Amino acid sequence: MANFNTHLFVATTVSGALAIGFVISDLATIKMAVFYWLLGTLGGILPDIDAPISIPSRLLFSSLGIFLATLFVFNQFNTIFWADLVFLWLMISLCVRYGLSKLFALFTIHRGNCHSILAALFFGFLAVVIAHHLLHLSNVLAWFAGIFMMGGYLIHLLLDELYSVDLSNMTLKRSFGTALKIASFRHKFSTILLLLATLGVFQLTPSLNQIIKQLLL
Ligand SMILES: [Zn+2]
Repeated sequence: MANFNTHLFVATTVSGALAIGFVISDLATIKMAVFYWLLGTLGGILPDIDAPISIPSRLLFSSLGIFLATLFVFNQFNTIFWADLVFLWLMISLCVRYGLSKLFALFTIHRGNCHSILAALFFGFLAVVIAHHLLHLSNVLAWFAGIFMMGGYLIHLLLDELYSVDLSNMTLKRSFGTALKIASFRHKFSTILLLLATLGVFQLTPSLNQIIKQLLL
C-alpha cells in the first residue's frame, strides 16, 4: 500500500499535467483547470477515507464539513440572519467532521468497497452532480469534473496495487488484488448499497451526449 505522501504526490502531478493539457487544448480556462486539478488530487486521496484514523480520513471529513457548511452559507446568505448562519456553519462542519466520519467508519472496512472501481464511479458521478446542480456548471464542464475525480481515484487504486508487487524478487504481497477490483464481493451488503447509490447518483447526472460529441470531434 502506498502511503499518504506518495498518493498526494502522484495525484497532484498526474492531475496537474492533465489539467494543463486541458488548458492547452482549449477544453478549460485556467480557473476551471485549477478546479479540475484540485478534484483530481482529492480523488487521489479519497479511497483511504475507509481507514478510520488515517490522515486522509481526518483531512477529508474536516474539509468536507467546511466545504458543505460554506456552500450552505453561500446559498442562504440573503435569507438567514448572519448570527444564525455562523452557528449553522459551525454545526454543519462539526456534524460532518465528527458525526458523519463516525457513521462512515461503522460501515466501512479498509480495502473493502472504497478501494473499488464501483466506488470510483460513485465519487465521479457525485462530483458531476455537485458541479452541475450546486455549482451550476454546464453539462460538459460538470462531466469533466467527474472525469478528474474518477481519474484521481483510479490512479490511487492502481498505485496501491503496484505497491503490492515486490519488484526486487517479483513476488506478490498479500494485499495484491485488494485495491483495483470491480467491487468487493466479500462484503455483499455494502456492495449492493454502493451499487444502488451509484445508480441513484447517475440518475441525477446531466446528459452525456454533449461531452461525447466534444471528445469525438
Ligand atoms: Zn489506498
